Amino acid sequence: MTEYQPGQNPPVITIRNLGKSFGAHTVLKGIDFDVFPGQVVVIIGPSGSGKSTFLRCCNGLEHPEQGDVTLCGRPLISGGKMLAEPALNALRKEVGMVFQSFNLFPHLSVLENICVAPVMLRKMSKTAVREQAMQLLEKVGLSTKAQAMPGSLSGGQKQRVAIARALAMSPTVMLFDEPTSALDPELVGEVLQVMKLLAQEGMTMIVVTHEMGFAREVADLVVVMDGGGIIESGTPDHIFGSPENERTQRFLQSVL
Ligand code: ADP
Ligand code: MG
Repeated sequence: MTEYQPGQNPPVITIRNLGKSFGAHTVLKGIDFDVFPGQVVVIIGPSGSGKSTFLRCCNGLEHPEQGDVTLCGRPLISGGKMLAEPALNALRKEVGMVFQSFNLFPHLSVLENICVAPVMLRKMSKTAVREQAMQLLEKVGLSTKAQAMPGSLSGGQKQRVAIARALAMSPTVMLFDEPTSALDPELVGEVLQVMKLLAQEGMTMIVVTHEMGFAREVADLVVVMDGGGIIESGTPDHIFGSPENERTQRFLQSVL
């Protein structure tokens, strides 16, 4: 596990007083949070506590009304105002996102799925993009599936392609929103293994998951959300061994 000394390296993501409502329903209640380079943050908490909304604010997919989000030292949201295009799209490239539902393009091969965004958005030649895509497929253990269509893959394979696709944009930080929740139990391990490898390589990651074994083993910091706020955060030893907040204790009892 990495020891963090805030102040030594500037944070990759800084969040201050982040607030988001849907109509009269306040979903995020003034969140403050920093993510440092190489840090693996695991967010846990009950359904509806605002985890996905929080993650979506970190790459500008959700528009909060209040607060600041700084990505790689650049303001993504300031005073509740989102950065305008084209700077918004440029900054979003720093963030790779993996969803529960894979979201692969069904009519494109595995290789094409990985190459389409870098060819359009990065100034790289097609050959260089394909070469990089093959390396990424190797990393996620799918080099033999380059020409396969998504429909022929298992859920675990699809999710590993989705991870390779996100990595193809060379993001500074990777966000995972319950990446294994839609998978059959026997396919969960292969996806977690790839995520663990990324963590070991030093990728900065925020992972929303109910996989407590992964959180214990891989997280540097576990953040507990409830009711639109962060109620507790700390090392896995602290959160799983001696949680202080009564709501954390109740949540852990319900999932462990
Ligand atoms: P979690 O990921 O922790 O389950 P979410 O961030 O998905 O929580 O949702 C937090 C709350 O915000 C929930 O009560 C949910 O119903 C509400 N919510 C999320 N997205 C929307 C939306 N687009 N419109 C209205 N309410 C929403
Ligand atoms: Mg969610």
